[in-house]
Amino acid sequence: MPWYRTHARKLPWRGVSDPYRIWVSEVMLQQTRVAAVIDRYNDFLLRFPTIPALALAPEADVLAAWSGLGYYRRARMLHKAAKFIIEERGGVLPQTSIGLRTLPGIGEYTCAAIASIAFGESIAVIDGNVERVLLRLTGQPQLGTAAGRTFVRQQADILVPRRRINAHVNAPGDHNQAMMELGATICLPKAPLCLQCPVYSMCKTRGEHPTLPRPAQRSRPAAYLLSLRKRGTLTEVLLELRLSNASLMPGMYELPPLPTDSVQGREPILRLRHAITNTNYYVQVFAARGPKDRGLRRAIPAAKNDLHWVRTGRLAEFPLTGLTRKILQRLDVMAASIPAPK
Ligand code: SF4
Repeated sequence: MPWYRTHARKLPWRGVSDPYRIWVSEVMLQQTRVAAVIDRYNDFLLRFPTIPALALAPEADVLAAWSGLGYYRRARMLHKAAKFIIEERGGVLPQTSIGLRTLPGIGEYTCAAIASIAFGESIAVIDGNVERVLLRLTGQPQLGTAAGRTFVRQQADILVPRRRINAHVNAPGDHNQAMMELGATICLPKAPLCLQCPVYSMCKTRGEHPTLPRPAQRSRPAAYLLSLRKRGTLTEVLLELRLSNASLMPGMYELPPLPTDSVQGREPILRLRHAITNTNYYVQVFAARGPKDRGLRRAIPAAKNDLHWVRTGRLAEFPLTGLTRKILQRLDVMAASIPAPK
């Protein structure tokens, strides 16, 4: 699509032919904004430049490099699949969408994206952006049903080029990236930019179409303790290790949560909102400072061996939850880190 060649955003994973890099970008881009992925993508690949480097790394290091991107299950599955490739596939990433589906934790979308962008397979990639473009192009109302998904799949399969044009032009890969780019930059969910759209003349909708109501947002309060101590010239912060069998973010470190009834009548040092899927957490952070706040440490429900003093200069090496990273950055605890001696 000529429009894509001239209008595509310059992103670090564009024009890349290494299938591993394409794989990492596609996994990161699921459920995470492009701006946040740009920040983490290059750092992640500096740390784990190849599949063997990723496979041999401890899981905690992979989670630490993923910190801030959220949905940590993606990092765990990426790591698991890299180990599987080394242990079961002789270190070779499969080159077809069917072969890629044999890897643990890799879904239909990711397989199609890698197979078409890295290997030129003629297979359509369908994400939320592509679905919206196809429904508007064809004038179909938004369908949240199995029949709706089948319709979108059929339309996407009709449009994807059947083969590469030559060794240098990857028609299926370019087409898929063009469709995703069109949805991300022109055919926006609200107020699509139809007059700039390269497929305006063939579009049946030319604007917004009926959409399903968004799921209602829930609100929940949450409270955390910030406890710092000095050890010579070093500063340490108290973190809690989430249990390995926790349903959310197992094995990650966070500031110790406090029961909300233990903070009644106390003044927080920070308030912030943190959204996870359909829930807005209204978070308050309390510091154990004066004599009045000493009881806060005793209010932490965690077992003693789940609590760890961590040097602030080493926080970047720890798999922190996104919320804890946000709090520590807002309070300058990470920025004020004193590097640990080598
Ligand atoms: S013309 Fe408008 S509604 Fe149709 S595909 Fe383009 S941006 Fe979307």
